[in-house]
Formats: sequence, C-alpha cells, structure tokens
Amino acid sequence: MASKAFKAIIVGGGPVGLTAAHSLSRANLDFVVLEQRPKVVLDAGSNLVLLPIGLRVLSQLGLLPAIEAVSSPMDKFRRIDHNSKDIGDTLWFTHFKDNHGAYPRVISRHDLMQIIHDGLPAEAQAKLLPNKKVVGVSTGPDGVTVTCTDGTTYTGTIVVGADGAHSTVRRQMRSEALQGPTATEVNEEKPFLTTYRSLWVRFPTVAPIKPGDASETHGHNCTLQLFAGKDTSVIGIYERMEKPTREGARYGEADELAFVERWGHLPVIKGGMTIKEAYTNRTQAGMVNLEEGILSRWSWDRVVLAGDAAHKFTPSTGAGCNTGLVDIVVLANELFHAFRAVRVAENNPEAFPGKEPILAAFNEYQQARFETVRDGMKGASEATGAATWSDATHRFVDRYVLSRPSLVKLFANRTAADVAKTPVFAYIEGDADQMVGKFPWAYPMKVVAP
Ligand SMILES: Cc1cc2nc3c(=O)[nH]c(=O)nc-3n(C[C@H](O)[C@H](O)[C@H](O)COP(=O)(O)OP(=O)(O)OC[C@H]3O[C@@H](n4cnc5c(N)ncnc54)[C@H](O)[C@@H]3O)c2cc1C
Repeated sequence: MASKAFKAIIVGGGPVGLTAAHSLSRANLDFVVLEQRPKVVLDAGSNLVLLPIGLRVLSQLGLLPAIEAVSSPMDKFRRIDHNSKDIGDTLWFTHFKDNHGAYPRVISRHDLMQIIHDGLPAEAQAKLLPNKKVVGVSTGPDGVTVTCTDGTTYTGTIVVGADGAHSTVRRQMRSEALQGPTATEVNEEKPFLTTYRSLWVRFPTVAPIKPGDASETHGHNCTLQLFAGKDTSVIGIYERMEKPTREGARYGEADELAFVERWGHLPVIKGGMTIKEAYTNRTQAGMVNLEEGILSRWSWDRVVLAGDAAHKFTPSTGAGCNTGLVDIVVLANELFHAFRAVRVAENNPEAFPGKEPILAAFNEYQQARFETVRDGMKGASEATGAATWSDATHRFVDRYVLSRPSLVKLFANRTAADVAKTPVFAYIEGDADQMVGKFPWAYPMKVVAP
C-alpha cells in the first residue's frame, strides 16, 4: 500500500548532501537540507580533486562547464623523496584521461560548493536551511522526526545522513536500533580508525609552482601531496601517528605550528618551496585526523547514510568526495525504482512507496556500493602506507613498482574496467556523455530526445 506523501530530510549540506538535493529536486520529490553552519557555501576547507567518476555525476547535473571554468586539469604526477630526489613520476591522471575521457581536476571546496548550490533551482535552494544543527533523530511507523539544537523539529519519510565523518545521524541510528524492540547493535560505536593526521595548507600559486602542477613527497612517516590550482595551491601533509586511535581530535594553531616544526623542512616540489614557506604564506590551513573505515550497516529503519558518514578514506587517491557523489546516484536510482514499481502496480503516476519498498531500496543501495567502496577505501589506505614507507614492503612498492610506467599503466587499465561500471542517474536526461575514453561507460547517460 502506498503512503500518501514523501519528504526526505537531508542532514548535512556538504557536497554529498547538496548532490542529494539535486537528485530529489530532479525527481520532483520534496526534501529539506539541514546544515549546522551559518552558510551552506563557506570559504573553508581544502582543495579537492574531482576524478572522472565524480565529474560525470556533476556533468549529468549540467555543472561541468562551471566546474571547468574554475578548476585546473591535472596530468603528470611528480614524485620526490624527503631529500628532493626523484623517485619516478607517475601518469595515473594521464591514464584516467585516456581511459575515461577526462583529466582529474583540482577545485577549491568553496567553488565546488558554490557551483553545486547555484545549479539548484530557486525553489530547491529555499529548502537549504543553515544554522540547523541536528541533535536527535527518531523513527516511527509512519515517518521520522529530526530535532535541532534550536528546538525546531522536522518530520518526513526518510532521513539521509550526509553529515560527514563525525555523523550525528549515524550515532542516532545506532541508538535507535539499540533501543528498539529487537535491541540490535548496528555498527561499532566508533567505526573509524585513525592512523594518520593531516595538516593542509592553502597558499597562492606562485613560482616555482604553476597551475596544474601535481607533486608528491614520499618518505618515512610523512608524505605530502601538492595540487596547484589557478590561483591557489593546496598541500595535504599526512603524518603517521605514534599509535592508531578511534578517538576524535580537535587541533588548533599550536598543533599546526608543532606539525610545521616537525616537517617544515620537507620540499613541496622539486627545486622549490618547503612546507614551512608554504605555511608562512598560507591563506588558510587546517589540521584534522584522517579516519578510515566503512560501516557494516548503511541504513536502519528509515535512516540511511551516504558519503563520509558511511565510509571514510585517506585523501591519497582523491576519492572520498567522488565516492560520496556516486553513493547519491545509486541511492537515488534505488528510490526511483521503488517509486516506479508502485506507480506501475497501482497505475497511478502520483503513488508513493510505503515503508517496505523504501527499506528494500536502502538495502539494494548498500549492496550495490559496498564492495566498490570497501576496495576504494583499502586502495587509499595502501597508497598512504606506500607513500609514508610504513614498512619495507610498502617502501619497495613505492620506490620500485610505482615508479615503473608500464606497471602503473597496467594497474590503471585493470581498475578502468571497474571504473567504467560506475552508474549514472537513471532518470535524469541531459546532453550526450562528454567524457569518452578507451573504456566505454557501462551505463550511458540518458540523452534528451531530439
Ligand atoms: C585534506 C583533505 C583532502 C581531501 N582531498 C580530497 C580529494 O582530493 N578528492 C576527494 O574526493 N575527497 C577528498 N577529501 C575527502 C572529502 O573532503 C570528503 O570525502 C567529502 O567532503 C565528504 O563529503 P560529505 O558531504 O559526505 O561530508 P562533509 O564534507 O564532511 O559535509 C558534511 C556536512 O554536514 C554538516 N553537519 C555535520 N554534522 C551536522 C549536524 N549534526 N547537523 C547539521 N549539519 C551537520 C557539516 O557542517 C558539513 O557541512 C579530502 C579530505 C581531506 C581532509
């Protein structure tokens, strides 16, 4: 039996939450986005690399031209050690272009957020509510209620937890399950393990760094990645911690200075700038733990998680955000199929699915994503281990395997077949695929009929 109405409450207005807003808006389904910060688009956060899988999602939403206007394509990756010695460049990004038709692009988080935000129609933008910190989520037979710190409550059909690595929705989902009639233990209380912490530094792109430069500095216990954008560059420096931890951490300027004291001498790029110089010229910096992990349950009852709330990668492969965008594609498609099934069965284009088909859609979503995401998370972890020479094997792989162009090409081609299976929104019509490489996409874009 179909329910009368549908409304999704999206918690978190980050890149994944806003992409979820697009997916629902395009499906003509009601939603609200609750974001704790004072503005949805803030000039804060590190730069991000958009890989072909993420670019394709944004392309299907019609956002690619805007992205291309403010981002820089990345090609060759230079690799040096702590003493500025070459350890062999890699052409991962060139292989991405050959295989999938697009170079990865570096963009500031602010620009990415602005573009995703501006791409929403005005009535959808009106549903993005800042200053709404969610503290409570409760599920009932007919729907969900979400409570914010200001005392306001929102009721809906489902909750999408897109509230990042420290997700409140995830915690609430666990306590709802524990308190429910079956007292089910859903996920670990602290599901993510931190082995590395990161200082990221944004600074003006000045010589010897040029827009589009990508470089990595590798060595024992510390690695850095440089991505040079048009105006600003970002380095992410990843330090292996003394001991892995499941506890969270908040870092301040004193911690950043101590970090720079430990690693400030490392070169950011061959023949130039050190970390200390980049930090001195910083326009922004931040320090965070790099949690890693994937939840065993991505949903419970009417609550479903996406993006960093469900899985957390180290940034070494630039995949965390890209993966979250694809989560939304798969979740939206599963919901779309549930809607279509009930509408066909009842011969009613206005019908809405009841609880059971929605829960089944959540399960299908997790099943469709789990292996790919788990492998992506492990790949990122291995990449960080190799770049920090965490043991003799990782050092060997980094120095003597990843430095061989033929082997890198082999690995890139092996993963390309899986990358090409990345889905697109099943119900969004747009222009023909703008990204065409040697590995044809298994799911072509839905093109508007002429
Ligand atoms: C140094 C660094 C470099 C990175 N580089 C890359 C890269 O190159 N490529 C890539 O793909 N990924 C990269 N990542 C990962 C990427 O930043 C994340 O995967 C991505 O931001 C996840 O998006 P999200 O929307 O799931 O979560 P978030 O970006 O964390 O957004 C969550 C949102 O929810 C809000 N929120 C949280 N709690 C609440 C609450 N209780 N109530 C209401 N709102 C709430 C937050 O304010 C935030 O706006 C990097 C990460 C780091 C740390």
